[in-house]
Amino acid sequence: MKTADLTGLPPGVAERLESEGVEELYPPQAEAVEAGIMEGESLVASVPTASGKTLIAELAMLSSVQRERGGKALYIVPLRALASEKKAEFERWEEHGVSVGVSTGNYESSGEWLATRDLIVATSEKVDSLVRNGAPWISELSCVVADEVHLVDDRHRGPTLEVTLAKLRRINPGLQVVALSATVGNAGEVAAWLDAELVQSDWRPIDLKTGVHYGNAINFDDGSQREVPVASGERKTAALAADTLDEGGSTLVFVNSRRNAEAAAKRLAGVAGERITTGERNDLVELAEEIRGVSDTETSETLARVVAKGAAFHHAGLAAEHRRLVEDAFRDRLVKIVCATPTLAAGVNTPSRRVIVRDWRRYDGEFGGMKPLDVLEIHQMCGRAGRPGLDPYGEAVLLATDADTMDELFERYVWADPEDVHSKLAAEPALRTHLLATVASGFANSREAILEFLDRTLYATQTDGRGRLESVTDSVLDYLEVNDFVERDGDAISATGIGHTVSRLYLDPMSAAEIIDGLRDGAERAADPKSRARAGRARSRPAAAEADSGADAADVTDADAADGFTPASDLVPDEAEDAEPPKPTPLGLYHLVCRTPDMYELYLKSGDRETYTEECYEREGELLGRTPSEYDDVAFEDWLAALKTAKLLEDWASEVDEDRITERYGVGPGDVRGKVETAEWLLGAAEQLAGELDLGTNVAVREAKKRVQYGVREELLDLAGVRGVGRKRARRLYEAGVESRADLREADKSVVLAALRGRRKTAERILENVGRRDPSMDDVDADEATGAAVAGTGARPGASADGDGQANLGDFQ
Ligand code: ADP
Repeated sequence: MKTADLTGLPPGVAERLESEGVEELYPPQAEAVEAGIMEGESLVASVPTASGKTLIAELAMLSSVQRERGGKALYIVPLRALASEKKAEFERWEEHGVSVGVSTGNYESSGEWLATRDLIVATSEKVDSLVRNGAPWISELSCVVADEVHLVDDRHRGPTLEVTLAKLRRINPGLQVVALSATVGNAGEVAAWLDAELVQSDWRPIDLKTGVHYGNAINFDDGSQREVPVASGERKTAALAADTLDEGGSTLVFVNSRRNAEAAAKRLAGVAGERITTGERNDLVELAEEIRGVSDTETSETLARVVAKGAAFHHAGLAAEHRRLVEDAFRDRLVKIVCATPTLAAGVNTPSRRVIVRDWRRYDGEFGGMKPLDVLEIHQMCGRAGRPGLDPYGEAVLLATDADTMDELFERYVWADPEDVHSKLAAEPALRTHLLATVASGFANSREAILEFLDRTLYATQTDGRGRLESVTDSVLDYLEVNDFVERDGDAISATGIGHTVSRLYLDPMSAAEIIDGLRDGAERAADPKSRARAGRARSRPAAAEADSGADAADVTDADAADGFTPASDLVPDEAEDAEPPKPTPLGLYHLVCRTPDMYELYLKSGDRETYTEECYEREGELLGRTPSEYDDVAFEDWLAALKTAKLLEDWASEVDEDRITERYGVGPGDVRGKVETAEWLLGAAEQLAGELDLGTNVAVREAKKRVQYGVREELLDLAGVRGVGRKRARRLYEAGVESRADLREADKSVVLAALRGRRKTAERILENVGRRDPSMDDVDADEATGAAVAGTGARPGASADGDGQANLGDFQ
């Protein structure tokens, strides 16, 4: 089928596709068109990676927007990082009259501006939240695309996608649903659920040979062999990457952790470095500089160093800008070897001559050890092999050190069919959130109506009888009622005021319950400071632990038995008892939001248990709610993991440098960003809950939120809120005596300029943003005394003089 023969697209689209080299549709694309995607037919396309699924989606969306005047298309992505990538890809249709928007912002907004867009990209969580917030344009949708729909099988994210699709179909009865899937075992079942046509195919634009390297050769599935000897002391991965490079090809290595990705990239940088030309070396040095410019962290520096030699790593801990630079350079064949974790790479279009799947097992906490990856995942990684038009074929290679493993890998992955996908909706945390939302947004107002709505889900398609779904539904409804999120009146079920808020805020009801309890505890203590002492006593550490810690502890135990005991951590607030009642501290609030199921806590590594146990008793007076007993292993570990995460946030909000934080907590800059953003959202939600329940703690919560948002101490809050200022510049301005926005409007310009390290443009922009009448820096010289005074302030020691050390969240974007 020729692209030129397609009808029903906006003017110029077919020609545009042709100019991009899409003259003929790939067979699965032609099948999709024949199945009616351009006339509004729903479709499940279950085809291998890199076989052109995006174009299927584009044809459906563009023809829908063209056909239905005022029609709207929605493209649902599984990860935020993919949303901007897809948006950038679709923006070229704006020239053809199709406006494009992306919605990734706050969960609680209803994104009204999106009403003016024809094509919208969003994550399933965001779409779910837009439905909850009653975004009016949702009912104008004519076409919805679900990318990577096989992820309905994912424990964490699957249920949201499943429920969202069910809701969108309920709101728009004639909705066209196009679901894109990797090849899975039961695509037919998914199609039946969505009342969709099915296109299922193994076709690929370029041949793929999959094999296992064992001894001195790769043994391929087609029976052929390729000799790739491994010298003694040499690693297989290095030998295989060198072999591809010697033929002018690139290599993508999949490993099972971020740390491994970085370590492998460091090792393989040697292999790449020996094989690049002088011209490439110069370009790579430039690219490395660009990478350093993104942020001043260890990760950034390590990445820059390996990139200078032609290798790179790629994982979710990297800043988005880092990822983009690596992906582009790999596609341009400047970077020769990329070591990646599978999480993101699965969705990013980065084909490579050879793919090496180095690790096929991954640590799984719930499994309690190393667990083999799914066939589906391995196939998706292998599918990245082969760049159409550039390589004769793609090669995907697994590694074995003995014959038995080689046989196992053939059986387990090379010959194996991918698994079926199974709905994870019946899990309680998923239902908790979705049932409340279903009731709050008016989809159902009785137990019967809830069950009827759930009948539209994949879960219902996959289970005979309602037994299990009914029983979890009942226990979840009980939970929601006990926590005052819903109320029942006979058969009728409705959301309470607070239940509506929780649903709108996109909180897991369990998070909301935890936050409300913690805030109530804080409010009670503020009302009655002595209750703090009582709370401390009730949750004092077990006697055994105290006996261990010597004489002081023994005293405490004695004192504890006597009435009127005050734990050490409460002695300090005592001094202030006459002054103000204690308000919740930022650490207390960070800890509270960190222990909710909506925050992924940091792991406790070896030695952390002792460190944070000590920390816990030192700061116990600040923690809201009751510290669990040390004997309650699971609860106590969780409490400490939340404390570790809260400490990270406290460090960030105390202006600790970003690279110190990444080092101290063993995380990447992307993780710091993730925690900060989640905390901001949860604290925003806590602020609203505190206000609505009239707990009187909302001011403290807002302040803690602002400090996390800007990454500054209290005194900088005013300044750091000015656009363009950020944490480091705010500190330098403050040290130079410019302490507030008002100061900034009045201050001597030479002082401001010096505090901003002589950067005129920056200084002018900032003065403009703060509303200064005459922001011009013409003829202003930086004040030397100020310059000398702030030289060491607000920048990491050793940061280059021209690097402004401006580490704030802007670094991550
Ligand atoms: P998938 O989503 O299936 O992994 P993509 O949609 O990213 O794959 O497509 C992979 C690549 O194939 C893209 O670079 C795309 O431009 C190209 N492509 C898609 N369809 C065609 C076609 N009919 N002819 C030529 N190239 C195509």
